[in-house]
Amino acid sequence: MTPLRLAVVGAGVSGLSAARELVRASREEGVPARVTVFEVEDRVGGRVLSAEVRGQRVDLGAESMLVRDPSTIDTVRSLGLEGELVRPGTTSASIWSGRRLVPIPKGTSLGVPLHPLQPEVVRLLGPRGSLRAFLEPWLLGPTVTPDDPLGPFLVGRLGEVAVRRLVDPLLGGVYAGPAELLSVGAVAPHLLAALGRDRSLLRGLRRQPPPPPGGVVGFISLRSGLQTLAEKLADSLEPSSLRLATPVKGVWPGQSGQMRVEADAGAEEFDGLVLALPAPSAAQLLQALAPELSRQLRRQVYSNVATVTLAYPETAVDRRPTGSGFLVPRFPGRVVTACTFMDQKWPHLRRPGILLLRASAGGHGDDWPLEVDDATLVTSVHTHLRRHLGLRQVPLEARVQRWAPALPQYRAGHLAWRDSVDAQVAALPHPVVLAGAAYRGVGMEACLRDGVRAAQALWQRLGPAVPMESRGQAADGHR
Ligand SMILES: Cc1cc2nc3c(=O)[nH]c(=O)nc-3n(C[C@H](O)[C@H](O)[C@H](O)COP(=O)(O)OP(=O)(O)OC[C@H]3O[C@@H](n4cnc5c(N)ncnc54)[C@H](O)[C@@H]3O)c2cc1C
Repeated sequence: MTPLRLAVVGAGVSGLSAARELVRASREEGVPARVTVFEVEDRVGGRVLSAEVRGQRVDLGAESMLVRDPSTIDTVRSLGLEGELVRPGTTSASIWSGRRLVPIPKGTSLGVPLHPLQPEVVRLLGPRGSLRAFLEPWLLGPTVTPDDPLGPFLVGRLGEVAVRRLVDPLLGGVYAGPAELLSVGAVAPHLLAALGRDRSLLRGLRRQPPPPPGGVVGFISLRSGLQTLAEKLADSLEPSSLRLATPVKGVWPGQSGQMRVEADAGAEEFDGLVLALPAPSAAQLLQALAPELSRQLRRQVYSNVATVTLAYPETAVDRRPTGSGFLVPRFPGRVVTACTFMDQKWPHLRRPGILLLRASAGGHGDDWPLEVDDATLVTSVHTHLRRHLGLRQVPLEARVQRWAPALPQYRAGHLAWRDSVDAQVAALPHPVVLAGAAYRGVGMEACLRDGVRAAQALWQRLGPAVPMESRGQAADGHR
């Protein structure tokens, strides 16, 4: 049988997960296939990148994976990474109140304080802000439909102060985007579920059933950095099938239903294609093949961010900061949006005499870290960290990493946008599927899952090329 020729464009975790699933399906179902992965960079991983800072291998992009589905751990194990798994020493973060760091109160859900009169909440929101949130069950707050913006809904329910000081910084930590833009159903479906349980958001959240035993695994990382996960996923491919430093320029209809993929090195024909790219890059490649879909994909906007990893002498502070780090609410002139105490959060990174911090800067509509040089960025970040943490010495080493595009913004209307994209992909006369952070979740776990989903969708679409009787078999742990 002539092997199927399949291509994945993009070697981030979504693309690599898709490629691995295609290889698995081909092997398990006895349908020969050659899977080629194209990647513009000279490495795999995309937004996942590990590098040495002061002799420690740290993550400059994604640094922890929130595992909700236990089968994700099976995937990590199936890649031979069990011995690499590490868990955070602490996950308790703080928020900058404007004057000091205040621990995020226990019993918040995406920043929504379940018990607004708790002293820790009052310290952050002030008495009026806390009282306003506390009154939510008795006030007739706005109703909401799933794709509405989260900000106005929560402001109507809890008051502006709770959103500005608690919800917004927490969302900013995940999406690098503001609450007023993001879609409730896309970023916080549990809030809709809570309102479904009770007319009050707070009462509904308090009655939220706990996750089933063993249901949520929690945060994990890898001792050698999360890029190892990407590298292990890539190991499932024939070395010659991984085309690094090979940007794809466009996709055109080829001969007899195939697609012609044009890369730097020349054009090749494929029977099926996974585009595991940021939406604007996918839009660019699909311009000729699917102009309407391409227009739709261009509407997805991204935030850009920079991370600055800094190693200080431990003597720069009186005592090590506690907790996993802190978030900074939006205010004019904000520089650092979040800071992770890397060697507090990840005990394997702890070294005597060194304090390892990672600051984030930038975010939606705030591109200044992309426009200044490294020295200026490091100096600005250090100046602000000095204020937050009382640092008395300059860093021994600093490492800047800029991410553009960094994170897709699931704006109000995202769910409708995604449905429309899905429908257009399904209606294409060509076997092309899309995967990645732009669609069904920005976290690494969601991206791994989306890669598998896309690969299975492509496998189904290839129709007669794949024997009917072998379709739909259960996959191994790699889901
Ligand atoms: C700073 C930062 C911190 C984060 N922290 C976390 C975290 O702690 N936990 C978490 O779960 N998630 C985190 N995320 C989110 C998560 O890392 C990403 O959403 C996820 O890695 C995206 O994977 P992807 O494969 O969908 O896309 P990407 O990683 O963007 O991969 C797409 C790939 O396509 C390649 N490409 C683009 N155009 C072309 C072309 N024309 N031809 C060939 N290749 C092309 C790119 O080079 C890239 O490698 C973070 C993201 C950022 C930016």
